[in-house]
Amino acid sequence: MTTTLLQPGQIEAAAGNIPELRLPPADLFLARARRLEQLADHHAMGDYLRFVARLARVQQERLDAGLAAKLPSPETLAQCREFAMPPLAPAGLARPDGWHATARDLARTVQPSLPEAGRAALQRILDKADAWLDEQAGRLFEAETQHLDAAAAPVIGAALQVHWVHLARQLDPAQVARPEHPNLCPVCGSHPVSSVVRIGGAESGLRYLHCALCSSEWHVVRAKCSNCDNTRGIASYHLEGEPPVVRAESCPECQTYLKTVHQDKDPLADPVADDLASLTLDLLMDETGHAKSGINWYLIQGQL
Ligand SMILES: [Zn+2]
Ligand SMILES: [Zn+2]
Repeated sequence: MTTTLLQPGQIEAAAGNIPELRLPPADLFLARARRLEQLADHHAMGDYLRFVARLARVQQERLDAGLAAKLPSPETLAQCREFAMPPLAPAGLARPDGWHATARDLARTVQPSLPEAGRAALQRILDKADAWLDEQAGRLFEAETQHLDAAAAPVIGAALQVHWVHLARQLDPAQVARPEHPNLCPVCGSHPVSSVVRIGGAESGLRYLHCALCSSEWHVVRAKCSNCDNTRGIASYHLEGEPPVVRAESCPECQTYLKTVHQDKDPLADPVADDLASLTLDLLMDETGHAKSGINWYLIQGQL
């Protein structure tokens, strides 16, 4: 593991000319699945990455099939914008119609590919009542992992992602205010998975945090702790001997870290897939005493 100190505000474009918010693209889950399949080759977690790739492909199918979507009213959207509140925060929305059916569809489709323990976990999604699914969803939303069914969570989370990505895609970036706190998604108020340095167009070289729920991305300058806003003494770590596509950036103030996935090092790098495939870096960061400020719903920490 190597360390470099970064300077705040490096390589940032002049404020005002940059896209602050990127709403999720139409092929989000397909791109994620392809990246996972690529990363799974010769990987110690290859079977798990291939399982998540299958899940992401079914997520894409469900998204493409069209879903019922009820955005908040124009008045509510305007109010949220005025008070810098995330318009799609789960606490302020009814659970989307059909989300239980999506969860069961996903579970049924990926279940046969799993070993017995995994099949049993997904059977709970098929057998239990809607109220149990709602309760598990609430725990995911609150990042309350203690009483979460961690083995079923990736599929429950995947179903919620499909519906929230669909909702987020109905919005216009102009309807969403800049977040008051850069650690939470301006669209749905969820925590980020990781951050990504993008390439191409006006976003080139800029860092975006990627939402765990709705996959919207919001701009936060590089070498700044998104958890506490600190810009001093941010240290960057990556695994020895690997091309540094994924770096972990730690903050000495709040003792957390967030990964940054560099598309400038690999154009296919994906903030969710590459976060998942770099679990070894998380284990090493844990040894340094830093807590992860990102959360990846495909793998709730402590699950493996
Ligand atoms: Zn979000
Ligand atoms: Zn911090």
